[in-house]
Amino acid sequence: MHVLVPLLLVCVSQCVSAQEGPPIGGIFYKDSEDMKAALEVSAKSFNFTASIKEVSTRGEVLEISKYVCQLAEEGVIGIIDGTGGRSSEIIQGLCDALELPHISIEHNDLYSDDWFVLNMYPSPTAYNMVLQKLILHKEWKNFTLLYTKGHSLIRVSELLQMGNDTLVVSLRELSGSDYRDVLIDAKHNGYKNFVVDSPSRYLEQVLLHAQQVGMMAEEHSYIFVSPDLFTLDMSRFKYGGVNMTGFRLVELQDKDNEKLWNFTSTLNLETGKTFKPEQLKTQVLLIHDAVEVFAAAFKKVKVQPEALSCDNYQAWSFGSTLLNFMKTNKVEGLTRSLIFDGVGQRTDITFNILELTSAGNQSIGNWTNNELKINRPLVADAEITQESALRNKSLRVLISLAPPYGYMRKSDKKLEGNDQYEGFTIDLIDKLSEILGFSYEFAVEDDYGTKTESGEWTGMALQLREERADLAICDLTITAVRQSGIDFSTPFMTLGIGILYKEPSKQPPEMFSFMAVFSKEVWYYMMLIQLALGATMIFVGRISNKEWQNPVPCIESPEELNNQFSFANSVWLIIGSVMQQGSEIAPIAIGPRMITSVWWFFTMVMVASYVGTLVAFLTVEKNVLPFETVQELYESKSITYGAKEKGSTKQFFENSTNPIYQAMFKKMKAHNWLAKENDIGVYWAETQNYAFFMESTSLEYYKERHCDLLQVGGLLDSKSYGIGMKKKSPYKKYIDDALLKLKENGEIEKLRNIWWKEKRGGGKCGEKRDADQKQLGMKNMLGAFVVLGVGCLIGLFISIIDMLWGVFKRSVKYSTTFKYELIEELKFALKFSGHIKPVKRPQKAIDGSFEALAKAEGKDDIRSLHSIRSCDTHRTHHSHSSRHSSRSLSVAFAKRRSYS
Ligand code: GLU
Repeated sequence: MHVLVPLLLVCVSQCVSAQEGPPIGGIFYKDSEDMKAALEVSAKSFNFTASIKEVSTRGEVLEISKYVCQLAEEGVIGIIDGTGGRSSEIIQGLCDALELPHISIEHNDLYSDDWFVLNMYPSPTAYNMVLQKLILHKEWKNFTLLYTKGHSLIRVSELLQMGNDTLVVSLRELSGSDYRDVLIDAKHNGYKNFVVDSPSRYLEQVLLHAQQVGMMAEEHSYIFVSPDLFTLDMSRFKYGGVNMTGFRLVELQDKDNEKLWNFTSTLNLETGKTFKPEQLKTQVLLIHDAVEVFAAAFKKVKVQPEALSCDNYQAWSFGSTLLNFMKTNKVEGLTRSLIFDGVGQRTDITFNILELTSAGNQSIGNWTNNELKINRPLVADAEITQESALRNKSLRVLISLAPPYGYMRKSDKKLEGNDQYEGFTIDLIDKLSEILGFSYEFAVEDDYGTKTESGEWTGMALQLREERADLAICDLTITAVRQSGIDFSTPFMTLGIGILYKEPSKQPPEMFSFMAVFSKEVWYYMMLIQLALGATMIFVGRISNKEWQNPVPCIESPEELNNQFSFANSVWLIIGSVMQQGSEIAPIAIGPRMITSVWWFFTMVMVASYVGTLVAFLTVEKNVLPFETVQELYESKSITYGAKEKGSTKQFFENSTNPIYQAMFKKMKAHNWLAKENDIGVYWAETQNYAFFMESTSLEYYKERHCDLLQVGGLLDSKSYGIGMKKKSPYKKYIDDALLKLKENGEIEKLRNIWWKEKRGGGKCGEKRDADQKQLGMKNMLGAFVVLGVGCLIGLFISIIDMLWGVFKRSVKYSTTFKYELIEELKFALKFSGHIKPVKRPQKAIDGSFEALAKAEGKDDIRSLHSIRSCDTHRTHHSHSSRHSSRSLSVAFAKRRSYS
């Protein structure tokens, strides 16, 4: 029984280990999750047991030695090493001593016959060959080798020796975590072709920094040594036009590559990730292939795993047999044929050569049997969408240092590249690049350019035409001449030529400045309205029944009635209220009262407005300009004038058909009154008797900062600024769309406010200019006039109703027709004379003749006369009409019969 138990245990342990398969070791860094998973998955699929050690510190001798020894004690048949560099060297040393196969999946620079190593990574010889052939195929005249610090150059050592008379080779080290400085330096040196030797983990960073510094454009060409380039997402770079070439070890074109699909799906299961086969990193694939090489050898060579100890560096007796078999045994792995040379390096590599195109990654050829075969297929033109057209392009943008469009940025530090500039157009291009995704590099050019008489182009226009620049953005005016040679974007600002001149000295107010409170038209309308209102009041008074008052109140039935709205009274009433004094004339009927009320309201508004503004007009001193129009400036003997020397303003005068403008241009030119730049013209305007013609946009900018300058007169023309580009530029449509977007969402206006009114001394003169006095014109007072007009119409309407009612009553009383009475009434009213109205009249007979009403009314007559007489002695002051004497009444009696 005592003998059986250990036997049983040995059997169980052997049975388990037989089930699990021999152990295979792996040493990886802690963060190499995918590699660890790859070993687990591969070991399982080839019936091995994976024993994995995780290294926490890079190149730590003690830690790594400890793990190698532990693995040896576990009896592993080999160690798959995912560390590389210094750590790999430590592993190599121990494996050599223990005679344990060391499988490397990183490139190794040094090899020796007696090393126990097998490297799955393509050998430096293979790399040197393929790279050389590729460089020659590309017919480069020069290239720069970019390598990351600490990375050996052996893999590409032969490239450095390629330099000769026709091929210039330079070398740059990408050190630290920021590669931009090195890349900018390479760019400034005009390098366009690069071979990049950088480990897979730094590739993203290299690509990103190259893009940020504008090195992903059409003229740039790269070969990446790492076979992992196309495992990255390259969609960000595919429209930029950059030429990128890389390698791929895995066979992806074979759709039936079942082994690859199975491995990918089991790896995804293990890691919980969703890799596609083309996204698997080379090292992950090589781990699979390393296990497969072990499996193939293990099948053929009878080896017994053995627990080894580092204490006495006991060698594994099967180690060299196994390794030698592995070196000579050809296996088909995921990365194609696995063939090794005598020192354990992988030879006879087959690479796919890939290139990035706008349609994505394309295989353009192969490297097999040490031969490069390029059979570039036609690149399917990818659908170029609006966003993609400029995305990742690097544009050369011309700017000018004309405030506020462009300034040198103020800083204590030394600035370089685009950081040196700021201003309106710099912000604008930044906004456009955000929308369209391009990068840019500024170049300063002060001459905006035009076509000379000899037909040559100059300045920015020339650079655009010769494609030395892609865009020109500044206060670049769209002119017919320029448009004949370059294209412009949609305008981003409109303007015209104005005159900048010094503010003249103040003059005391004029003698009749109190009249200036209202504009002339207001005064004219006021006078007209008073006349019209006088006539209306007379008419309305005459047709309103109540306005006809008994002149002698003590007579109950007077012969005549009196009306106070004579011409003199009406005018007095109107003027009295304008002067705020009133008059004794008081309307009685509703119509005239209505009209009088709105008139009072009107005068109240007018007087209040007048008084409120009067003080300012009496005290404010006015500027008296020596000229107000271009003609006056031209005729002035003492004032000089000019424009910017090489600008569209000067061209406006030069090409004008207006004889005055032409004469002015000749004078400007002859007397050298043209300013080199706006700043100089502004300085002359400020310090001399000089008028500077400049564009209204710039004029506004300078007015905001030089409070003693103003714009004289209006604008001479109307035009716009646009972004310049070469004729038929493919960018135009996209720039136009983006500019419209910026205009519509108010971004351009926002930028304008910032650079005109806020930054660099803006807003200095705003308050002072607001203090200027404004005359009250018709547009200010129109409301009061409208109220008056409407009120008068209502009053007139009421009076007409009143009149019609009176006419109706009389037609009933005297048995006449309504029409007859109406005509009589209107005739009387429209005479506009006679403010006495007889009460009784002959009645119109049915046959149309008049019959005296003596019989019917004779008593009344006598009674009336009596009462007049008796009343005459003690006249009352009952009403205004009572002031009319009995003499007037007698006259009325005399006229009585003639009323008809
Ligand atoms: N905007 C002008 C041009 O495009 C420059 C300034 C000026 O002439 O006033 O040439």
